[in-house]
Amino acid sequence: MKILIAEDDRATRLRLKSHAISWGYEPVVAANGREGWELFQREAFPLVISDWIMPEMDGLELVRRIRSVPSVGHVFVILLTSQSETSKLVEGMEAGADDFVAKPFETEELRVRLRAGQRLVELEQRLATSNAELAAFASVASHDLREPLRTITSFLGILERDYRGKLDARADEFIGFIMDAAARMRALIHDLLSYARLDQGQAAAFETFEMRAIFEEESALLAAAIAEAGARVTAENLPQVHGDRSQISQLLRNLLGNAIKYRGDASPVVRVEARDEGADWHFTVSDNGIGIPEKHLAEIFQPFRRLHAADSKYAGSGVGLAICQKVIARHGGRLWVESEEGKGSIFHFTLAKAPAVLHP
Ligand code: ADP
Repeated sequence: MKILIAEDDRATRLRLKSHAISWGYEPVVAANGREGWELFQREAFPLVISDWIMPEMDGLELVRRIRSVPSVGHVFVILLTSQSETSKLVEGMEAGADDFVAKPFETEELRVRLRAGQRLVELEQRLATSNAELAAFASVASHDLREPLRTITSFLGILERDYRGKLDARADEFIGFIMDAAARMRALIHDLLSYARLDQGQAAAFETFEMRAIFEEESALLAAAIAEAGARVTAENLPQVHGDRSQISQLLRNLLGNAIKYRGDASPVVRVEARDEGADWHFTVSDNGIGIPEKHLAEIFQPFRRLHAADSKYAGSGVGLAICQKVIARHGGRLWVESEEGKGSIFHFTLAKAPAVLHP
């Protein structure tokens, strides 16, 4: 396993390197944080040992930078600390360090701490592999389901066109039921494929774009639903953002679609707003709909989790918010909801302003 060692003291650096080799790692060394950061940007290291105090860029800043990029897997970072820094462990932890080793370090202590980090990284890699396999399975399965469904739907269409009114009333009713079920299944397969594809994509294609433009496009796509519900959908202060345009469009489409769909008796009033929060943009999508009971607030983001029966007036697959969650995670942001039953909901999400550097 590759390991990045950032240490300005030459003797310590060489000692770390030779220990790392003897323990079976492949070390790459840097003489300070800046060099370490340059190396890290070129290739993803799963393990990092960094000194705290170094010229040009210290260990704390190096960890912060490592944590600021959404990398493929978890990067386990050990900070080397001198006596005076141990009192600042909280600061180190908050910057994103996983573990600390006091200098001058005990060889055996460093070995076992590195081993623990390696176990964590390997476990995470195994999880990522099985997740990817599951996503590939879901993608292939839903793709293959589309073909027979297409056959069912097209013959049903012929049956309806040629035989409606010629059979008895019950048969007409049954054809209607089958058509509804086929439409639900088509929507479900579509959502499932979108969800699975998010995992299969390579590093997202990030670009800079106007959130306002996305809002206009998605409102236009939802025009029929907006008109049918008599909804008022507005947006304020939408900034320029950096991200995967098609994924952010999908996110906004799902949130706006839900805000219109889960309406109560009043006509929907939906607002999209953005607040400047320093390093992040904080967006909210608020509605005056039916709201969500407090006990269900966390679970609605899980795939296939719905709060309504399949035959209720609120149709859906339960995948929309899981897609949103994944999109935001891929952008290194956060997504959450506040809601009051019968009053409405506010979905919040954040997007970092600085372009994130993605590892391939
Ligand atoms: P779907 O809408 O297809 O059911 P989602 O994943 O988009 O799937 O949403 C999951 C559940 O969260 C919905 O079934 C609904 O119960 C609840 N929900 C989502 N958005 C809202 C909203 N704006 N207002 C009230 N409930 C919502």
